[in-house]
Amino acid sequence: MAEAIVELKGVGKSFRSADGAARSVLEGVDFRLAEGEIVALLGQSGSGKSTLLRILAGLIGADAGSVRYRGQPLYGPARGIAMVFQSFALFPWLTVQQNVELGLEARGVAPAERARRANAAIELIGLAGFEGALPRELSGGMRQRVGIARALVIEPEVLLMDEAFSALDVLTGERLRDDILRLWSGGEMPTKAMLIVSHNIEEAVLMADRVLIFAADPGRVRAELPIRLARPRDVDSLEVRALIDEAYALMTASAPVAGRATEEPVRMHLGDRLPDADIGRMEALLEMLVEDGREGRADLPQLAEEAELTDHDLLPLAQALALLGFAQLADGDLHLTELGRHYVAGAHTLRQQLLGQQLLAHVPLAAHIRHSLEQAPAGELPQEPFLDLLEESLDRATAERVLRTAIEWGRYGEVFEFDLRTGQIHLPAGEEQEKNAL
Ligand code: ADP
Ligand code: MG
Repeated sequence: MAEAIVELKGVGKSFRSADGAARSVLEGVDFRLAEGEIVALLGQSGSGKSTLLRILAGLIGADAGSVRYRGQPLYGPARGIAMVFQSFALFPWLTVQQNVELGLEARGVAPAERARRANAAIELIGLAGFEGALPRELSGGMRQRVGIARALVIEPEVLLMDEAFSALDVLTGERLRDDILRLWSGGEMPTKAMLIVSHNIEEAVLMADRVLIFAADPGRVRAELPIRLARPRDVDSLEVRALIDEAYALMTASAPVAGRATEEPVRMHLGDRLPDADIGRMEALLEMLVEDGREGRADLPQLAEEAELTDHDLLPLAQALALLGFAQLADGDLHLTELGRHYVAGAHTLRQQLLGQQLLAHVPLAAHIRHSLEQAPAGELPQEPFLDLLEESLDRATAERVLRTAIEWGRYGEVFEFDLRTGQIHLPAGEEQEKNAL
């Protein structure tokens, strides 16, 4: 086995939320990055990927476990590790050249040497001729190239990329990714290992030697998919398609069992996050499944392509359908259940009834809200107690998002209503009167 450059053992990290309670973001993370490899990290947003990268870069400390760089405990930012962020954190008043030199200045490199190394990095990443330009004069793709040059100029052994291509349009992102792979394969970069966080499954499979699937709440490595294909890889080849399917399967598997079908609907707990899925889009996806030639089953990567959805958008929809028992996820395929067929064939009212029924049966949060409303004096309650409950396991923004999703689904299924004006959740209109009459 190649020598580990960075090694994490049993790493844990928690953050304090506004009310002072500690929330565990990472737990028991074991990870090693060896010389010569590219590793990709996939996982839903909020699962702690950026936190893990910041710990690896020495930007923040871990609360538990050990972090070693070349065998030594890592305290503070490591010289040989550079990070590229999703947003182009460039100084608007500095030129490309000055932005790139910045990191070297902080490291006490002499001016002439700074200029030489910055020029080399700028040239390498394809920005020659733009040394004197200001960030606002550059396209998004070129700005991100400056961000990468700024990381490369310190000649890092380890390059960490946090969704570095995801703010770019698809073509620009792909071109930049291919350029980086070319530099890597050609040995033109001083970099000996890369860790890329991505929310694009295809990108991960095209780039990495290993894809790690991260689980959330708390974040930890749930599965690993080795990819033993030479680069550059052909996205349309059978091997690559099969690996993309496998990565989808791992991403959507509810249990830590690799690639296993999830026959049973996923069991949820009260404070679990709900997939960020809109009913209209869930229905559109169900309708795609019954289109001619599909017979109720489709390959997720293919669906993503046809529906022009990113994995980021498609996966929550597929997960929501599985959670509600309208579809099943198995081996990267989505297929309709009997109930799902019934739903698609049904008219609006039947759909509402089915959704309401499934929501109460499979989403404990919705059942809890409904139950609480039935106990409440006027059949109505403010959102706060539910948010507080969710905040025991989720951060504030996620708690709000999850409650919004539950409310949106609940409204559609006529399980409860929400009054935008008062911010109160209440029983549906007809039922409220019944209750008041009692
Ligand atoms: P990802 O990159 O996978 O989307 P992050 O690592 O950015 O996830 O965040 C994981 C969780 O940790 C989120 O719930 C986020 O709100 C929380 N978090 C991240 N950084 C901080 C911080 N400095 N203080 C408090 N909470 C944080
Ligand atoms: Mg992140």
